[in-house]
Amino acid sequence: MDLFEYQARDLFEKHGVPVLKGKVAVTPEEAEAAATELGGGTVVVKAQVKIGGRGKAGGVKLAKSPAEAKEKAEEILGLDIKGHITRKVMIAEGADIAEEFYFSILLDRANRTYLAMCSVEGGMDIETLAVERPEALAKVEVNALTGIDEAKAKEIVDAAGFEAETGAAVAPVLQQLWTVFKEEDASLVEVNPLVKTGDGSILALDGKVSLDENASFRHADHEDLRDIEAENPLELKAKQLDLNYVKLDGQVGIIGNGAGLVMSTLDVVAYAGENHGGVKPANFLDIGGGANAEVMANGLDVILGDEQVKSVFVNVFGGITACDEVAKGIVKALEILGDAATKPLVVRLDGNAVEEGRAILKDAAHPLVTLMDTMDGGADKAAELAGA
Ligand code: GDP
Ligand code: MN
Repeated sequence: MDLFEYQARDLFEKHGVPVLKGKVAVTPEEAEAAATELGGGTVVVKAQVKIGGRGKAGGVKLAKSPAEAKEKAEEILGLDIKGHITRKVMIAEGADIAEEFYFSILLDRANRTYLAMCSVEGGMDIETLAVERPEALAKVEVNALTGIDEAKAKEIVDAAGFEAETGAAVAPVLQQLWTVFKEEDASLVEVNPLVKTGDGSILALDGKVSLDENASFRHADHEDLRDIEAENPLELKAKQLDLNYVKLDGQVGIIGNGAGLVMSTLDVVAYAGENHGGVKPANFLDIGGGANAEVMANGLDVILGDEQVKSVFVNVFGGITACDEVAKGIVKALEILGDAATKPLVVRLDGNAVEEGRAILKDAAHPLVTLMDTMDGGADKAAELAGA
């Protein structure tokens, strides 16, 4: 989960990283009031979008008074930054910037470690710098267990080429940013610019943080950081129902058990779809081992709520959950859904208790259900029904 800058700022503050005060506003009037609350002096109005390069796109503007903050907020709210519409701005205290640096900690998957990147030439041209003069961007491995301690922080500022005094001021901030990374279970913490002000203090002026959702069970407070409005409504509903669902751009709804089987079902349906006008799978949905009637009904409910869907392919391999249970689940789910079930369902069952399962579906003889014997056959039938 990627955070907005103001949320990253809050996490930085919580862990002692030096930041400036900031307030969120969704209207120009709120922006003006926020600037007044911040003392009425110079502020920066910053677009809150989850994409970099706001500065260059006109999404970061200085304002010398609350009235000017209102004007700038008017310009920035609604601004389209690389396809992201600005709905909120942060009003932040203005900083007297003497120098801009770059610092980030990220997960280096290829090398199975964490990596710190640091440069004394931070700011809006860091991407160009990284490409044209990669030697100006220091890369230092960070061990997961020892993290960024005093010695590691010194190694990083030395590698980046800070002069001694600035390096000594920056190093403790790097340790605090590691604390954010570790304590919040982040997969990315990036500060650009990390600045030195006129009076020599160090500040994190812009923050980008991605949190690892696999660790969300450890962080009840992270739930509040989610941007519910921006989430796909079907995915949101699925999440509330505890389903592993990902919306895709296609017409054949997919339900399967086990991530591997569902992934291969997506492939087989995409392949079959080429013979039926190019229809594609509409979603990923893994109902897991306990494919009971309720889970099946919830899954079908989410998929049928997708207007793009024209047919549904239920592909289940009975293992711990026997096929007769799954078949009962499908029958019961169709009962629960009643008139809400409107689209043809192709069902392929195999594995544990397959004969019993197929018999249950044959007996129920639901008009929407077509039973197929093989995965390929089922995929082709579902694609055909979606292409018609
Ligand atoms: P980004 O372009 O999305 O990375 O947005 P940033 O928050 O990094 O801001 C872009 C640039 O605006 C920074 O590199 C600074 O040069 C400038 N900037 C941001 N905040 C301030 C501030 O408080 N005072 C001044 N003078 N400049 C600022
Ligand atoms: Mn930045």
